[in-house]
Amino acid sequence: MQDCIFCKIVKGEIPSIRIYEDDRVLAFADINPITTGHTLIIPKAHAADIWEISAEDLTAIAAASKKVADAIRTALAPAGMAVAQLNGRAVNQVVMHYHMHLIPRREEDPELPMTAWELKPGDMDLIRQTAGKISAAIG
Ligand code: 5GP
Ligand code: ZN
Repeated sequence: MQDCIFCKIVKGEIPSIRIYEDDRVLAFADINPITTGHTLIIPKAHAADIWEISAEDLTAIAAASKKVADAIRTALAPAGMAVAQLNGRAVNQVVMHYHMHLIPRREEDPELPMTAWELKPGDMDLIRQTAGKISAAIG
């Protein structure tokens, strides 16, 4: 897609620090790293989000995330690692080209806000009803 910054990174029109690539995906360093080692994995074919990406590209992202996650553990020995992926402006997706974040965290790094949500017991009727709606919609 012409005006997409990540498509430009795939084509090499914008520089990036490449970490891994294959036919379908590219992994590169995030330029505003939340932690040391913050890496993004994207499909080479433009897709905005989980709803647009093909199952084949999503599978390739998953396989690459395993490779890169293993390499992050070997290289950086983090205490843990968040894998995050945002879909839509409503959840603060900023770049509208699918990307999976790999965010390793050392013990001394600040807590990642996305992993620090409060657990409160839910309404079991609503949980059951909503799960039923979702499973009925699986194609
Ligand atoms: P989002 O909120 O959409 O999940 O996050 C977009 C991510 O892309 C951010 O972490 C941001 O730092 C990263 N990003 C945005 N523009 C560029 C860029 O030009 N190069 C690189 N390497 N990362 C970028
Ligand atoms: Zn794109």
